[in-house]
Amino acid sequence: MTTVLLTGAAGYIGSHTWLALQAAGFSVVGLDDFSNSSPEVLERLRELGGRRPVFERASVTDAAALDAVFARHRIDAVVHFAAFKAVGESAAQPLAYYANNVGGLVGTCQAMQRHGVKTLVFSSSATVYGEPKYLPYDEAHPLSAMNVYGRTKLFGEQILRDLEASDPAWKIAWLRYFNPVGAHESGRIGEDPRGVPNNLMPYVTQVAVGRREFLQVFGGDYDTPDGTGVRDYLHVMDLAEGHVAALRYLLDHGASITTNLGTGQGTSVLQLVQAFERASGRPIPYRIVDRRPGDLPAFWADPTLARERLGWRTRRDLDAMCADSWRWQSANPQGYA
Ligand code: UDP
Repeated sequence: MTTVLLTGAAGYIGSHTWLALQAAGFSVVGLDDFSNSSPEVLERLRELGGRRPVFERASVTDAAALDAVFARHRIDAVVHFAAFKAVGESAAQPLAYYANNVGGLVGTCQAMQRHGVKTLVFSSSATVYGEPKYLPYDEAHPLSAMNVYGRTKLFGEQILRDLEASDPAWKIAWLRYFNPVGAHESGRIGEDPRGVPNNLMPYVTQVAVGRREFLQVFGGDYDTPDGTGVRDYLHVMDLAEGHVAALRYLLDHGASITTNLGTGQGTSVLQLVQAFERASGRPIPYRIVDRRPGDLPAFWADPTLARERLGWRTRRDLDAMCADSWRWQSANPQGYA
């Protein structure tokens, strides 16, 4: 059985990928420092998986702790999620972001190298494409970063290119995520941001359960069909299954890959709000306010490469994304608390 170490395993995408890997027959060792997640996730995973998850509490910036984890488990591959992800916070705390996102990546790869593990799936982001030169973004689109968070992902990508060039035994998947939303269909795990949500869907679901009064729609005058921002939202379980497909690709083909993970469909803020109202039966009051500085008007993925090379495509539509986000939030109005 192939054993996969998941860093950031208790986070939103990590926890869903944990289930998808188990469903695909992989053995999983989860690692997290709970700096932005809750131990309750492990309880939920136990319930869903029917057995106690194998878990190590550690930071990816702690070399000794990583060595101990690699010594205790026979790891075949690593899926590296552990990172901070708030754009606004990244501008205020650049060193914390570089230490965790870049330092943590380097530390994880060094630990892998010390233990002879050279198969890695890396969580990158569509943010590495920067200002669109054309749309949809394909993998050949030029790269640039628009903020500190984006630079941590761009630098991370480059560090891994240098690593691969130095030693072709490394097999790496660079996965550029678009906008993950939704939750596991059980409603037992989902997205539980700390404090005021930065992202659209958790804000909408918190309005729906009455934790927030109304949604602020950031900008109503973009050059888009209804004036609001357009993004490529994909179901987090589709994204999780994308990791399984990428890992299989690395293991079966012995080659690296850089690919988008998105649907190829753009959805505006107001379209998402309407779909959510339909799925939940709850009204979502909103006010159109100023644009959020640094936001792009619109972007979405060209998902062709993932389809052709990984045999992966998204299977869950916007209604399913909204229904599953709502199932999670309505059953867990305060998240994991
Ligand atoms: N958005 C919004 N209100 C919010 C949060 C986000 O109108 O409270 C908009 C945002 O301007 C963008 C879209 O929703 O057009 C997605 O934003 P999100 O922060 O979720 O993702 P990202 O900006 O990283 O694509």
